[in-house]
Amino acid sequence: HAKANGRNDFCLFEETMEHQFHELRNLEAALRVAIEKEELEVHYQPIVDLRTGKVSCCEALLRWNHPELGPISPAKFIPVAESTGLIAPLSHWVLAQACNAAAQWPGGVTVAVNMSPALLKDLHLSHMILSSLYTSGLSADRLELEITESVLLEDNAQANTLIREFQKIGLKLSIDDFGTGYSSLAYLKKYRFDKIKIDTSFIADVTRSKEARAIIHALVGLAAELDMEIVAEGIETETQLGYVTGARCTAAQGFYLGRPSREDVIRRRLEAQAKGEIWSAEVEVLQR
Ligand code: C2E
Ligand code: MG
Ligand code: MG
Ligand code: MG
Repeated sequence: HAKANGRNDFCLFEETMEHQFHELRNLEAALRVAIEKEELEVHYQPIVDLRTGKVSCCEALLRWNHPELGPISPAKFIPVAESTGLIAPLSHWVLAQACNAAAQWPGGVTVAVNMSPALLKDLHLSHMILSSLYTSGLSADRLELEITESVLLEDNAQANTLIREFQKIGLKLSIDDFGTGYSSLAYLKKYRFDKIKIDTSFIADVTRSKEARAIIHALVGLAAELDMEIVAEGIETETQLGYVTGARCTAAQGFYLGRPSREDVIRRRLEAQAKGEIWSAEVEVLQR
C-alpha cells in the first residue's frame, strides 16, 4: 500500500512539474497575445503627502485581464516577461502610458513607474525613457522610477551608468520595498535616491511589533538626515495611517487612502483636488 502511495506521489510530482512548465509556456504565449491585443491596462494608485493631505504622486501598476482566465497578478506575469525578453516592450508601453497620463494631471502630480531589475542591464533604457517624456511632453521631474533593492545588489556597471544617467536627466528615484533586500544602507551611501518606500511588511506589523515600530522610526530619521522622502506602503487601516503620520513619514500609500484605479477615475480625483474639494481621508490626515 505504501509503495502504491509512493508511486502516486511521484506521478503527482511529475505531473505538477509538467503542469508548471506548460503553464509558464502558456503564460508566455498568452502574454504575447495580450500585448498585441492590448488586453493590458495601467492602473494608478494615489500616494498622499502627509504634510498636506494631498495626492502628490500616483504609482503605475500593470493590470492584465485575460478573457478566459480573468485577472492575472503582475507578481505572476512580470517574472515571465523578465525571463522571456518581453519585459522591454512591456516596460516601454507602461512608461508611455504613464507619461501620457501624468501629462494630463493637474497640480504637478508625479507618476511613479516600477523598473524591473532585468531592465537595468539595458543601456537603451534611457532612450526609452527620453522618448516617452518627449512624446508626452511630461517634464522629467514628474517621472519617478521605483527600483527594488535586489537590483542594486548585483552592483553591475550598467546599472551604475543607468542610475547616474537617470539622475542627469532629472528623474526622481525611489528604493521600493525597502528593508526586504540586502545591504540597503550601502546603497544609500552610494547613490542619491529621492525616496525610500518602507515595505508593507513593516506597516502590517506596526500594532503588534515593537521591532517594526523601531525600524520605522530609525528609517524616518535616516531619511530626514539624508534629505529623502519616506513613504509608508500598504496602509490599510486608520490606525496604521495614524501611526505613520505620527512617526513623521512624509507620504503614505495603501488601500485605505485609495486603491489602484483606472486612469479616468484617478484623474477625476486629481481634478477635484485641484478645485479645492476636500476628501475624507485628507481631513483625517490634516487633523493629526
Ligand atoms: P510594488 O511596486 O511594491 O507595488 C505595490 C503593490 O502593493 C501593488 O500590487 C499594490 O496593488 C499593492 N498594494 C497597494 N496598497 C496596498 C494595501 O494597502 N494592502 C495590500 N495588501 N497591498 C497593497 P500589484 O499591483 O499586485 O503589484 C505587485 C508588484 O508587481 C509591484 O509591487 C511591482 O513590483 C510589480 N509590478 C506592477 N506593475 C509593474 C510594472 O509595470 N512593471 C514592473 N517591472 N513591475 C510591476
Ligand atoms: Mg512599486
Ligand atoms: Mg513596493
Ligand atoms: Mg511590493
